[in-house]
Amino acid sequence: MKNKSLGMPAMPLVGRFAPSPTGPLHFGSMVAALGSCLSVRTRGGRWLLRIEDVDTPRSVPGAADGILRTLEAYGFAWDGEVVWQSRRTTAYQAAFARLEAAGALFGCACTRKEMADSALARDGTRRYPGTCRAGLAPGREARAWRLRVPPGRICFDDGVQGLIEEDVAADVGDFVLLRADGLFAYQLAVVVDDAEAGVTEVLRGADLLDSTARQIVLQRLLGYPTPVYAHLPVATNAAGEKLSKQTLARSVEGQDPARVLVDALDFLGQGPPADLAESGLATVWQWAMDHWSLARVPRRRLAPTPAYG
Ligand code: GLU
Repeated sequence: MKNKSLGMPAMPLVGRFAPSPTGPLHFGSMVAALGSCLSVRTRGGRWLLRIEDVDTPRSVPGAADGILRTLEAYGFAWDGEVVWQSRRTTAYQAAFARLEAAGALFGCACTRKEMADSALARDGTRRYPGTCRAGLAPGREARAWRLRVPPGRICFDDGVQGLIEEDVAADVGDFVLLRADGLFAYQLAVVVDDAEAGVTEVLRGADLLDSTARQIVLQRLLGYPTPVYAHLPVATNAAGEKLSKQTLARSVEGQDPARVLVDALDFLGQGPPADLAESGLATVWQWAMDHWSLARVPRRRLAPTPAYG
């Protein structure tokens, strides 16, 4: 398609949903699936599905199949083939090799125990104190590989959370790209996958907001474009905890899809009519497509979603 006035090809809009198969989909994941899908589909864009099973020890057998089955039952249809991170090691290796060739990586011998005293970053992980940055101490061997994070602030305009700034070097330090267990880190996988799939916008839960600056650092070093980001409010249980496998959040598989999607639309501030769920799944989707507005999504929800906790 051409942009008539400038004769330039129109930029294709590409969004994605990227669940980790650590358990069944819960209400919080459904919110991310719905928001990311509506945002691109209402503007004629493509919506991709990626199963984030790069962290193989955390993947639960059968969980990915359950996720695909649930999405289909809820009326989601993704474009193209599902991408599985566990099958993309070669792509991560290539990106890793490019960073290594550019001198952007270093081997690190530090154990978790040795770093136990360092300061905490915003997301609760340990800030790397730089111990092995200038080279390994004699007799020590690299366990993991870290990115030499360049100094400076990263700034981005989040579609829901507003202007976000982070100094990754100061707040997080040199973060791990190849883990001590030989697996590539989520941060590298996500950046390579989004870039190779041509993803132009990332809508996901605000629990990942602290990862975004790290991902932008990587995009810049790898010469990838930075997508537009919008971080959706996080669904919580009655105790105020984020819905997750750890908090034993209820699976949405087997629940009434029309009801759950209407609750997700309500959670996202879209103001669906009270009786919409009774009209059935197809009508819910039609209403959502006709009314979606990112501007109405609240930054956070103070009320928990106990029905889904
Ligand atoms: N796999 C991540 C999760 O399930 C989402 C990552 C992302 O959307 O970038 O929480």
